[in-house]
Amino acid sequence: MTDIVCSRCQTLSRLWRQGLRWCEACETYLVNDAGTGTWVSFVDRDHRQRAAENERAIAQSVDLVDEHLPEAQRLVPEGWAARRHQTDGARCHVAIDAPADANATSYLSPPDGRSGWYVRVHNRTTGIDYPLYTDGGARAASFDTIEAAVAAAVEALRVESAKEARRR
Ligand SMILES: [Zn+2]
Repeated sequence: MTDIVCSRCQTLSRLWRQGLRWCEACETYLVNDAGTGTWVSFVDRDHRQRAAENERAIAQSVDLVDEHLPEAQRLVPEGWAARRHQTDGARCHVAIDAPADANATSYLSPPDGRSGWYVRVHNRTTGIDYPLYTDGGARAASFDTIEAAVAAAVEALRVESAKEARRR
C-alpha cells in the first residue's frame, strides 16, 4: 500500500474508509487530482477542475480573438473600430465601438465549443446592456461565423445610434 499525503494538511495518510483514502486530520476522503497528482478532498478536486476548465476557456477565447480580430477589423465599416477586450479572470472578446454619435460598444464572445459567437450590446449613455436574440426566440443568438457576428453587432449599434439621434 502506498502512503499518501493530504495536500491540505500534509499529513501522511494510511487510512481507508468506504474503499477510499481518508485524511484523519481533515476528516475528509482523499481523491487523486489528475491535474497535479496530489491527494485532495472531493470538494477541492471539483474546485480545481472547475478552475482548470475556466483557465482553458479563457486561454481558448484569447486564441480565438487573436485569430479573428484582423478579420473583424476588415469587416467593420469605415470609421469604426474593432479591438480586443479582456478583463481579469474573464474570457476575451472582440469589442466593436460605434462611431462617435453613439456611446455604445458591442462585445463579441468567441465560440466555446457549445455555441458560436454571442453578441452583447452595451450603451453607456443609457446604461442598457443586452444580448442579441434569435428572431422571436427566447434564446441568445449564436453566430457561426465572425462575419455574421460583426454584421449583427454593427446593425445593433446603428440602431443605438439612431435612438441616440432621436433623443437629441
Ligand atoms: Zn488533511
